[in-house]
Amino acid sequence: MHKHHSALGLVSTLRPVQPVTLVRPHAAARAARFFVEKFPGRPMYAVKANPSPELLQILWDNGVTHYDTASIGEVRLVKSTLPDAVCCFMHPIKAEEAIAEAYFDHGVRTFSLDSMEELAKIVRGTRGATDLTLCVRLRVSSEYAKLSLGSKFGVAPDEAKELLMATRQVADALGICFHVGSQTMSPDAYVGAMERVRAAIVEAAVTVDVIDVGGGFPSRYPGMNPPPLERYFETIHRAFESLPISYSAELWAEPGRALCAEYASVVVRVEHRRGSELFINDGAYGTLFDAAHIGWKYPVQLLREPESDARDMDFAFWGPTCDDIDYMKGPFPLPADTRGGDYFEIGMLGAYGSAMRTQFNGFGSDLTVVAGDEPMFSVYREDEADDRVATGNVVKL
Ligand SMILES: *Cc1c(COP(=O)(O)O)cnc(C)c1O
Repeated sequence: MHKHHSALGLVSTLRPVQPVTLVRPHAAARAARFFVEKFPGRPMYAVKANPSPELLQILWDNGVTHYDTASIGEVRLVKSTLPDAVCCFMHPIKAEEAIAEAYFDHGVRTFSLDSMEELAKIVRGTRGATDLTLCVRLRVSSEYAKLSLGSKFGVAPDEAKELLMATRQVADALGICFHVGSQTMSPDAYVGAMERVRAAIVEAAVTVDVIDVGGGFPSRYPGMNPPPLERYFETIHRAFESLPISYSAELWAEPGRALCAEYASVVVRVEHRRGSELFINDGAYGTLFDAAHIGWKYPVQLLREPESDARDMDFAFWGPTCDDIDYMKGPFPLPADTRGGDYFEIGMLGAYGSAMRTQFNGFGSDLTVVAGDEPMFSVYREDEADDRVATGNVVKL
């Protein structure tokens, strides 16, 4: 991999024709250390947010030993990259063959489930193993999340009792897990979910060994300025301490976005300008899936020397493919004199950005360069991040 001090340095020396992913190992390392040191339990990385082997290695090197995997492909990837890592198979609906391979070939002992049917699959797939940690996934509200995960998975409150009692019969350790939705903007999201957990435990009258609060920890994006992560941790810890569970019960979390959002950004080139629309060389089928499909906003900064002194105006982007869907409405503020041939950087694409890239229509590139500068926003550098966001300006590199 090439190494550059900054995004601007990369553009002046390489003049890349394809979009370039800039990765910042120091930012991922900082996020990992923060969770390992400050989360009052065990943070497991949710691999789907960004499955890059380089990132997995950085997280491992900085103390993340457990990985939340949702498919047998992710289990294989983690075990081939980090042979000593512990994988937990946390998709509540799995193929029986995937359960068997995970258990017998990769040493997976922790599985999640949200139905009696899945419990039977786990029992068959592991041939009645007696060393399982089984986490029953409860359905909880996604009201505080920017991205709902509230309707697909999770056992409904009126069916939780039966499933918890049946799982307790099979499991060596019984867990309860949930997901409050991604990018939750208030720690209160976890308070409501923990109340659900309490009600389920009381009703089923079972001994619970693990509480897994899932993902949902926020990062920073334009217009989304969540409270400090420590507030989430304190809130979760308080709720955990007050649950009717055994003294030795463990607290787990499955952060995805928060561990990797700051890890990567993308440098793109403007191929054409039409009024307030910029035609760029990355888009909905590349790293900008969420910008196109759910209108997610990412920070942008023009990479030009000498710097433009034009005022910012709002732009929308067209991606490179021939599809009308390949459109990112933003708005994305860039200097009003932005034109064809200019490069700019789109920040905070480490989570659910590079992971979504395809080669559709012959576009897409996996050119990756290591940068030593700071990500555009950060939840881990309170001092600087706060005034960057507060003024709405992105600080130039
Ligand atoms: C997607 C997912 C995560 C990660 O969620 P973030 O909001 O990125 O932290 C964690 N656990 C499960 C089960 C998931 O599906």
